[in-house]
Amino acid sequence: MQTPQDQSFPEIRESVRKLCAQFPGSYWQALDRERIYPKDFVKALTQGGFLSILIPEMYGGSGLGLGAATAVLEEIHRSGGNGGACHAQMYTMGTVLKHGSAAQKAKFLPKIAAGELALQAFGVTEPDSGTDTTRIRTFARKEGDRYIVKGQKIWISRAEHSDLMILLVRTTPREQAVKPSDGMSVLLVDLRAAVGKGLTIRPVRTMLNHATTELFFDDLAVPVENLIGVEGEGFRYILDGMNAERILIASECIGDGRFFIDRAAAYAKERQVFGAPIGRNQGIQFPIARAHIQTAAAAAMVDNASALFDAGKPCGTEANMAKLLASEASWYAADMCLQTHGGFGFAEEYDIERKFRETRLYQVAPISTNLILSHVATHALGLPKSF
Ligand SMILES: Cc1cc2nc3c(=O)[nH]c(=O)nc-3n(C[C@H](O)[C@H](O)[C@H](O)COP(=O)(O)OP(=O)(O)OC[C@H]3O[C@@H](n4cnc5c(N)ncnc54)[C@H](O)[C@@H]3O)c2cc1C
Repeated sequence: MQTPQDQSFPEIRESVRKLCAQFPGSYWQALDRERIYPKDFVKALTQGGFLSILIPEMYGGSGLGLGAATAVLEEIHRSGGNGGACHAQMYTMGTVLKHGSAAQKAKFLPKIAAGELALQAFGVTEPDSGTDTTRIRTFARKEGDRYIVKGQKIWISRAEHSDLMILLVRTTPREQAVKPSDGMSVLLVDLRAAVGKGLTIRPVRTMLNHATTELFFDDLAVPVENLIGVEGEGFRYILDGMNAERILIASECIGDGRFFIDRAAAYAKERQVFGAPIGRNQGIQFPIARAHIQTAAAAAMVDNASALFDAGKPCGTEANMAKLLASEASWYAADMCLQTHGGFGFAEEYDIERKFRETRLYQVAPISTNLILSHVATHALGLPKSF
């Protein structure tokens, strides 16, 4: 069923639906089984110009806002696909666009827009720091015209399928920084040149097909010209990109929610048990209706956050709230859809069990629910910080 929210950017949605129709459930099932990266799907999206939607026209992109990007990702997920293979390009590019030098933008953005370079990897999380990003330990020491990087990252998705990576490092130890969030810097790493020369990438197999990895830096040299913005200011740049990331991921949850609702409603109308469609029972109808209401409410929050972002207004709290509600709505819808399908929900060929696994991620990454609640409690409500 269509709602006013899912009618924004109708032409974009229609084109994404057409593209996704070429990548049916059987395509995703086969990749999921072997944990293979959806290369052809990403290529088709790139060629269709969807991954460069946020890149300004002067660099070869479409120059559209975050609202258009949310429509793309929502439709991918509603179709049964997954944007996790490539969504990062949309928000990591923003770090170069907003904080990169004119020379960096001219060098990289046109190639990213043309699909000649993939900027899919975003290296923040470390095994010992967890969500407390100020405690990252990967360190870049300056030696002449190079930074020498040493340390380790975990859960860095798509590193094996990306040419470039936005990497957050410490350039001043936490103890010597004025504030814990000072002294971190952002480097643009050329992964093609780095692998085997100070960078080792090790895949991590997870419950979903997400191409995530562990990275080991052992004196990797990165040219100083690849520093984004000012040394020591990197945490601020990363936070900027995180709002976009949370809004975009929330739109993927909305797409998942709608996928589960579409599938559950269709199945409930058609599946006959005790001589009648199961959907005639309110015990089946009401959870579907509740999922629809929760998803519509979360979608309104995503639209609100993305409108604030596009207007250049502060949107940290709104992006967090949208992501929390959308990830909970999609998880409720996933559980409802599995239950509606009974035993068939567990069969691979129905796509429900795969999407169920996939949508669970969003309550943990890119930011976990507790950390969002803490942000809202302290930033929006003025309650004392617990950490
Ligand atoms: C498949 C996958 C892909 C990912 N891709 C990327 C990527 O590309 N790049 C990247 O940088 N990272 C990536 N991540 C990392 C992701 O962002 C983190 O897993 C997430 O932010 C949570 O951090 P953590 O796993 O270190 O959990 P922790 O910080 O160790 O937290 C564990 C649990 O404790 C809770 N918790 C922690 N502190 C508190 C507190 N003070 N109060 C209450 N509860 C608390 C958390 O909410 C969480 O539930 C990915 C993760 C996964 C699983």
